[in-house]
Amino acid sequence: MLTDRYPYLFDPVHAAREAAAATFRATGSIRARVEGLAAAGLLDPTDVRGLAVTRWQLAHADALTDLAFIVQELGTFPLRSAGGFDDVVEAARTGRSVVAFALTEPEAGSDVRALTTRATPDGAGYRLTGVKHFISNAPDADRATVFARLDTGEGRDTIACFLVEDPPATPQKVAGHSIGRFDFVDTPARLVSTKGLGLAFGTLERCRPSVGVAAMGMAKRAFDETLRHVQTRRQFGAPLSAMPVVQARLADMALELEAGTLTALHACWRRDTAPPGARTGYESAIGKVTATEAAQRVIDAAVQLHGGLGVEEDSVVQQLYRDIRPLRIYEGATDVLKTVIAARWLEGS
Ligand SMILES: Cc1cc2nc3c(=O)[nH]c(=O)nc-3n(C[C@H](O)[C@H](O)[C@H](O)COP(=O)(O)OP(=O)(O)OC[C@H]3O[C@@H](n4cnc5c(N)ncnc54)[C@H](O)[C@@H]3O)c2cc1C
Repeated sequence: MLTDRYPYLFDPVHAAREAAAATFRATGSIRARVEGLAAAGLLDPTDVRGLAVTRWQLAHADALTDLAFIVQELGTFPLRSAGGFDDVVEAARTGRSVVAFALTEPEAGSDVRALTTRATPDGAGYRLTGVKHFISNAPDADRATVFARLDTGEGRDTIACFLVEDPPATPQKVAGHSIGRFDFVDTPARLVSTKGLGLAFGTLERCRPSVGVAAMGMAKRAFDETLRHVQTRRQFGAPLSAMPVVQARLADMALELEAGTLTALHACWRRDTAPPGARTGYESAIGKVTATEAAQRVIDAAVQLHGGLGVEEDSVVQQLYRDIRPLRIYEGATDVLKTVIAARWLEGS
């Protein structure tokens, strides 16, 4: 348990939450997993360290359930921040609603400000036209928090945040994920806030360090599988674990795990304890990049030490190898976050 190993970073409330997440298991659709998470109390509001310990435990057991969990947070945090959507937030918390977070567009990925989905006023509400793609949980979502352009008059516009009921989804094929696109054509929407960009960036910055911790949960699972394997698999008359090169690989994996976990948890702690208004983008970027990149290396080593079994379709490490890859791309690709990290030092020099 992270809360046992790093007690100085946590409060008792985190330990209780982690214990609940450690025993939680779910299968089936995203909706079924969301309902199960709600019944276990895991969708109740928490701080970033609460997200982190939940994600580590869920991701260690099953990456898809971790995604079901965190996308509910991504979808509802802008609504909680803006206020006025208590009924929607409560439906999500109790598992009665699956809420997607729809920012990315075919021509606006890392460059979020380039998005072109447009909102036009329609009576008391709005209508959205445009395309969002690579939206997690979209096939199961009955609501979506959507970011779109809104005219503010005199030829100017802003990126605003909207809530859409029953968003029109088409599934996209991404292995191990439940992903889809939304094609909005004059789709009715409610305005959440005209300050959409701030809400989007604030939500991503808050969740970003927990991506690193989830990656570490997946990497630890790969390490656990590997420890078992190298002690039972025999070649050249001895277990693999008797070979110095195998031991060196295990040590390298442990080093990556220790450094990545602590760095990502530090970013979570920093985000929770920073004074209001303080910027924590640097720590968030460091935590996500360090841990997700380390997790990829740990899982790659796990596949290597499993030999042919490591690439068999049903093997746990093969699935982890596939599941870990998107974490280095979404919520800020590694290369994009490196520009954030470099900027901090260049500005400060
Ligand atoms: C599994 C999965 C789930 C996702 N879920 C969601 C979701 O729920 N909601 C949502 O809105 N989006 C979601 N996304 C989309 C995700 O946020 C984008 O894929 C991501 O922001 C990158 O955008 P892009 O794919 O268009 O890549 P691009 O922006 O085209 O970038 C491609 C690559 O170019 C490089 N690059 C781009 N810009 C820079 C830069 N400024 N500096 C240096 N290098 C750069 C990086 O290597 C980057 O990986 C998801 C994606 C995946 C794969």
